[in-house]
Amino acid sequence: VRYTAAVLSVVGSLLMSILCVILLRLSAAKMRSDEENRSKSTFLARMSHEIRTPMNAIIGMSELALRSQDAASIEEYVTNIKQAGYNLLSIINDILDFSKIESGNLEITPVPYQLSSLLADVVNVMRVRILEKPIYFAVRADGRLHNQMIGDEARIRQILLNVLSNAVKYTREGDILLAIDGVETGEAGEGETLMTIRVADSGIGIKKGDLDNLFGDFVRLDATRNRGVEGTGLGLAITRSLCRAMGGDITVTSVYGRGSEFVVTLPQKFEGNDRLAVVEHPGEKKVLLYDERTVYASSIEATLRSLGVGVTAAKTPEEFFAQLEKEKKEEKKEKFAFGCLRVMERALSLIEDLGLPTKLVLLANLDGNSFQNALTLAMPAYSVPIASLLNGASALERKETLSETRFIAPRARVLIVDDNLINLQVAEGLLMPYEMQIDTCESGLEALALAKENQYDLVFMDHMMPDMDGVETTGRLRGMKECRDVPIVALTANAISGMKEMFLEKGMNDFLSKPIDPAEVDLIMCKWIPRDKQIKSD
Ligand code: ADP
Repeated sequence: VRYTAAVLSVVGSLLMSILCVILLRLSAAKMRSDEENRSKSTFLARMSHEIRTPMNAIIGMSELALRSQDAASIEEYVTNIKQAGYNLLSIINDILDFSKIESGNLEITPVPYQLSSLLADVVNVMRVRILEKPIYFAVRADGRLHNQMIGDEARIRQILLNVLSNAVKYTREGDILLAIDGVETGEAGEGETLMTIRVADSGIGIKKGDLDNLFGDFVRLDATRNRGVEGTGLGLAITRSLCRAMGGDITVTSVYGRGSEFVVTLPQKFEGNDRLAVVEHPGEKKVLLYDERTVYASSIEATLRSLGVGVTAAKTPEEFFAQLEKEKKEEKKEKFAFGCLRVMERALSLIEDLGLPTKLVLLANLDGNSFQNALTLAMPAYSVPIASLLNGASALERKETLSETRFIAPRARVLIVDDNLINLQVAEGLLMPYEMQIDTCESGLEALALAKENQYDLVFMDHMMPDMDGVETTGRLRGMKECRDVPIVALTANAISGMKEMFLEKGMNDFLSKPIDPAEVDLIMCKWIPRDKQIKSD
């Protein structure tokens, strides 16, 4: 750890030098007029502050880690160093993007991508960030949207993360809603959708007079009020440039003290006819719903209706129980009762006592808590996970929800392949309790190299990756004698029906949908980690 800390400070200093060069270049371009001169000094002062903050953390924490003897404290220091590193990286990325925009070199590269995958990645990232605050995060994504889009996925992800991160930064408590829908705009057969992405928060809001220059370079409002909030004032300027470069735009409405709403419009081409989320035989399914968190209740109700599923939304727990009691066994519909934790116990005993055929579904928290004998829908539940649950995806196959790791496997070695670093962290974090040896990598090629060197017991493989996707990587792994029989579990955001079969056909052994549900991980682990390497923990 000490060595790491020392290396990190050297790397930090290196980064600082690179930044200085970039800053000097940028500032040279900025020095053309008096006006620009003024903005240059503000810029330099701000950048210097922004860069110094994480640098200070990196250098200071490394020093503390070097001095400390206590493993727990060292771990905490190194974690903070890591976080500061990421902050620094995002500042650098902002500056690089900004300089590309300034010099007219911003390129948009359209590629085929799956909207479901993009959405799941963004939701995963944001869910972890929001966990630290008392905020409800609701997502509504119109299931009728086409899934196979063509566009610059990375840039769209950047736009979404930028606007959502701002919503989190400038909201202390309350709720944040991400809503995505679209209308087909092209002539019949041309395949173009105008996507509308709305991000609404109940945060501090923006003064009327500030709304006009909000998207300008280096604009940060309410300096005193936002003193503790990190940011360069470049995010929205970059976001707007990206939207416009893709033929779209971004607008904002806000009520100071009440909240803001950012609306991004983006034209996107699509291929084929796959939709984001489809419920099979929606007329044969029926949902009874109660959640005291009204943001979730209304968002889930709207989603179910748009998926064509009949829903009765109870206003109180009493109404929920009364409705549940009324459910007749004879009616030939597949019945679900969606409820928050508060109503689980009583609902379960009603279902058991009256012998109701209703399937109980816990609307969990952002951290994915669970309830014995109920299925779980982790928040934010939007069309894709809801449809997948109603279609009887793997969640339905299990009779009870397992919340704790049932074994450790220190002798087992697993590999996680995902091109998104934060997803890798999430997956690695979820596997940590099993105490296995975990290797991670960000591309198919690296996975092939690692698999040559090591004998893995299990491989988690992301589906959509640039260059070599998960399916191709699996094909090539199967061609290597070391990996002919290694279990490979697909990690995918695409939970529509038929996907599991596709993966199995392509040589994978199982399927784990994103956002990853810890209880699902438990089932996968039990099934695929060799029995002789599983050590029961109780
Ligand atoms: P920053 O890095 O400072 O967040 P941005 O360009 O992303 O830079 O945003 C510019 C300014 O706009 C912020 O400093 C903040 O004052 C304001 N702002 C952006 N998003 C929100 C929001 N959701 N609610 C309130 N204020 C916001």
